[in-house]
Amino acid sequence: MYKVDSDFATEFICDAEILESLDCAEKNKNNLDVIKNILERAKNLNGLSHRDAIILLENNDKNIEQEIFALANYIKQKFYGNRIVLFAPLYLSNYCVNGCVYCPYCFANKNMPRKKLTQDEIKQEVIFLQDMGHKRLALESGEDPINCPIEYILESIDTIYKIKHKNGAIRRVNINIAATEINDYKKLKAAGIGTYILFQETYNKKNYEKLHPSGPKHNYNYHTEAMDRAMIAGIDDVGLGVLFGLDSYKYDFVGLLMHAEHLEKKFGVGPHTISVPRIRPANNINLENFNSVPDNIFKKIVAVLRIAVPYTGLIISTRESKEMRKEILGLGISQISAASNTSVGG
Ligand code: SF4
Repeated sequence: MYKVDSDFATEFICDAEILESLDCAEKNKNNLDVIKNILERAKNLNGLSHRDAIILLENNDKNIEQEIFALANYIKQKFYGNRIVLFAPLYLSNYCVNGCVYCPYCFANKNMPRKKLTQDEIKQEVIFLQDMGHKRLALESGEDPINCPIEYILESIDTIYKIKHKNGAIRRVNINIAATEINDYKKLKAAGIGTYILFQETYNKKNYEKLHPSGPKHNYNYHTEAMDRAMIAGIDDVGLGVLFGLDSYKYDFVGLLMHAEHLEKKFGVGPHTISVPRIRPANNINLENFNSVPDNIFKKIVAVLRIAVPYTGLIISTRESKEMRKEILGLGISQISAASNTSVGG
């Protein structure tokens, strides 16, 4: 049963509601009256429901697409102007006990050299990033309670905030680490983090369990309810994201918006950011097993998200080409990770 403010993942991300929304979109995608009505309402800048948004996404009329792009651009300009928030990912550790089948850091990849930065190495990396002009970081790490416990993350945050280099300091440390307990979220809050980011990867429970066959991340409910625990712990600045291409982009697009609606309804505050990475070829990973999202669909996903959640920052992955990054900045992207290398100490 769908219940937007439920405590349970399978109720606020209700599979039946997603399937009904997809069915509704299929039936209405070419109904111009419905589409025009949605676009008119979207112009009030109050966002759109997941059902309205998927109808827009599914329409494939080229003129409507231009209207969607123009409205997305208008909203982007109105809320964010030409300002782009730049941040630098910093990979602390690639030790990981999870078995995510699409990730080269997965436990089963015995060819991957494992590395965790020391506090001195973190200082060096941060100073290097400061010299490049960065003031905002996103700390990333695999999940490994032995090699990379929460204490290590807290110590690293402390190290970073204490660095004074050429009279400058890092202003904001966002954190992208595994789902954890309320107590750990309280510690992160006390450490002064910016946004707590956790990608859902896919909202399709059955597929999620197949793609995450082992490790703590296998538990779909625990993972999906993580943002609730973070908010209960006092972190009201959270970042959602899916890895588009792991499942059908339509399913995950609806799930993503339902998750945002859930947080808004239950805690009175929606996600601060939504990240829109697409699955890409990587070491040891066979792309044939996934549904890669073509460029034209990807651009429309960004534009409709911009319209559906006007107040939420949209983040583009480091892995998009320069050309694609440039193009979708005009469609709603407001944050970009710059000059990063997705390896520890890279
Ligand atoms: S938890 Fe993160 S780092 Fe670990 S295997 Fe999965 S995606 Fe990779």
